[in-house]
This record gives sequence, C-alpha cells and structure tokens, in this order.
Amino acid sequence: MNTRDDQNRPRILVVEDEAALAMLLAYNLEAEGYHVDRCDRGDEAEMLLAENPPDLVILDWMLPGVSGIEICRRLRARDATRALPVIMLTARGEEGERIRGLSVGADDYVVKPFSVPELMARVRALLRRASPERIAGRLTAGEIELDRETRRVRRAGREIHLGPTEFRLLDYLLEKPGRIFTRAQLLDAVWGMSAEIDERTVDVHVGRLRRALSRGREIDPIRTVRGAGYGFDEMFGRAQAKA
Ligand code: CA
Repeated sequence: MNTRDDQNRPRILVVEDEAALAMLLAYNLEAEGYHVDRCDRGDEAEMLLAENPPDLVILDWMLPGVSGIEICRRLRARDATRALPVIMLTARGEEGERIRGLSVGADDYVVKPFSVPELMARVRALLRRASPERIAGRLTAGEIELDRETRRVRRAGREIHLGPTEFRLLDYLLEKPGRIFTRAQLLDAVWGMSAEIDERTVDVHVGRLRRALSRGREIDPIRTVRGAGYGFDEMFGRAQAKA
C-alpha cells in the first residue's frame, strides 16, 4: 500500500476476519502514521509473522485456519517473536476467556465492540514500551515541542492548536530535521492510503501549519525548497538558542 519511507514507520499486522472491522482498524492506524498489513486467516498470519515480524500485532481471537490464541502461544514460544507486542481482540461474551488470553502471553486484551481511540492509545503505549527509540513520546526542535501522547504542540510554552493533518505533518517533519520531502512523499506519509489527493493539498496544509507555528516576527521553522518540497529547518533550534 505504501512504499516510500516505510522503514521509518512502525509496522502493524492486523489479523481480523471481519472485513469491516479490519478496514476500520487499518484506516485509523494509517491515520496515526503506522504502516499496516492485513490478513484474515490465522494460517496466513503465521506465515507473515514468521517471514517478517512486525512491530506489533492486533490479533483476533476467532479466526479461520489457526485461532488467535494458538498464534499467540506459538509467537511466545519462538525467540524471534517472544517479545512482540500482541493485542488480542475478542467478541463480547468471550470475556471469560480473558485470563486464558493473558496466560498465553497477549500484552493486552480488548473486547469488541471497543472504542477506536482507546485501542489507538493502547497501541501507542505498547509500542512505546517495546521500542521506545522508535516511538519517542516527545519531539523537540528549539522552542517547538510536540507531545505524541497528549497530541499537544507548544512553541516557547505557548499552546499551538493544530488540525489532525497539520499535527501529523509536523510530527513527520520533526522526525528528520533538515531533510526535504517531496509533496508525493508527504502525501504518502501523512495522508497514507488516500494518496489520490492533489499534491497542492500539501501546500495548503503546510501553509496552515506555518501560520499556526509562527506568530508576528517569530522565525518560520518550515523550509520550502522550490521544485523539491518541504522540510523542517535543521538550523531552527540553533537559531533559537542564539537569539
Ligand atoms: Ca473473528
């Protein structure tokens, strides 16, 4: 689904045979900036997990092929996947199985129907615990600070209100200060699967982000490179420190 810059994004495998739920999860996870792979059978999931383990698995309990609980047990038995974060999903009425789920080594256990923001928060928390270097909770450059957990942005202590797209855009640019991204790369990374969007959309959102970040005579931290794209100015923090 996404090709560029995937090495920067945590990879999540969604194993769920209810197509609508799998789509909902993939959509929301991609909106959070993760790379998502999906599969709807337990036996296929086992192959995917053996070939190329993701950073986290969301695993349905009842699956065709091999059950989620069996997959989880096998993941825990192998060195390569012993510590892989696993969130198990189960239908209402199977709550009694919770203890069993946790006893085979699931890190978390969610009963359907669940709140999507709640699940996203659990995904973030698990990833942070498992690979803190990839999911640093806080990004800073000079006087600009972005907190992924509270989804707040501040400049010199002042709260900056950003729309969800501007937030993801800033988050992405802040991860690699100095690097210039093309509009196509930004579309792919920030908008994810809905990359049918016109590239000028990127200009509109970068414009909004700029206006939100800089007030009056404050230095604009976003660089525009004509014909190339946009980036976060790597000199920004230093310029701030000197000023
Ligand atoms: Ca199922």
